[in-house]
Amino acid sequence: MSMSAGSDASIYLCVSIDCECDKGPGWKTRKPLSFAAITAGIGERLQPLFRRYGAKPTYLLSPEVIRDPASVAVLASIAGQCELGTHLHGEFAEPGAFEPEVTSAFQCHYDRTTEQEKLRGLTALFADAFLTKPRSFRAGRFGIGPHSLGILADLGYTVDSSVTPFKDWAQAGAPEASFRRAPTQPYWPVLEKPAQIAAVPGPLLEIPVTIRPAALGWLPLVGRHFEPRWLRPTKGSVEQIVAVAEDEIATSSGRPIVLNCMFHNVEIMPGLSPYAQTEAEADAILGRLEGLLAFAARHGIATVGLGDVPSLIC
Ligand SMILES: [Zn+2]
Repeated sequence: MSMSAGSDASIYLCVSIDCECDKGPGWKTRKPLSFAAITAGIGERLQPLFRRYGAKPTYLLSPEVIRDPASVAVLASIAGQCELGTHLHGEFAEPGAFEPEVTSAFQCHYDRTTEQEKLRGLTALFADAFLTKPRSFRAGRFGIGPHSLGILADLGYTVDSSVTPFKDWAQAGAPEASFRRAPTQPYWPVLEKPAQIAAVPGPLLEIPVTIRPAALGWLPLVGRHFEPRWLRPTKGSVEQIVAVAEDEIATSSGRPIVLNCMFHNVEIMPGLSPYAQTEAEADAILGRLEGLLAFAARHGIATVGLGDVPSLIC
């Protein structure tokens, strides 16, 4: 295997998990709201796996999760072994919270005041539940806009992880959330232009999701229709996921190198997301996550929280 970054380069892995109420096929919200993918999914499946590998994951919590006492109890009980941050699905956030059929909102489509109030509400909800301030954030549907990062910095966040390199979300309805040319390694962003590197360090570090171009993504015209390769256990094989990690390590000039794997808590439970209908399918996703953790362990790559990264970069 090629680890061309060399043995002297430090490499870190973040596993950042968007945590939501139970969903189902087509991402439909289960009603009444339920949270088995928090209480059992994180409590009995994910956290024991991370514990076996000495890995520190980051759970990014949507507002409805923080309003559920049983979920908060489970998350508070593991708070010393993980990082807890926030994840905005605007429908669930005050002002104007409701229970949507599907979470389709992009926060970049709210006016600045509404976006600020929803982020403020989410952050206050978190602080009340966990008696500490969140440091890390990811937008639902990766939908940050020109106001998002400034609002987050004002609220005391030090990390955003909403940028998805080689992707834009125009087809999903948000051409504003375009990250095709964004860096793949952590950077200090221009707050009004999240995909751009600022000239000087700022208050908020952007840690993009690790995504590599599609194998044929360079082809003119048709190339952009091939899905880039995500560091994500949802589909594929352990070999394919490890290849994405190796590709990022080999092409990266960042020191240290940071890999950022994302998925959703609901993916590792049968029937609670579009990705796993059966126990075997849910197990396969967990198995691929374990394959990535084993790869990291073999190479001495520590799994750290998103909020730990700024101090490692400086
Ligand atoms: Zn989400």
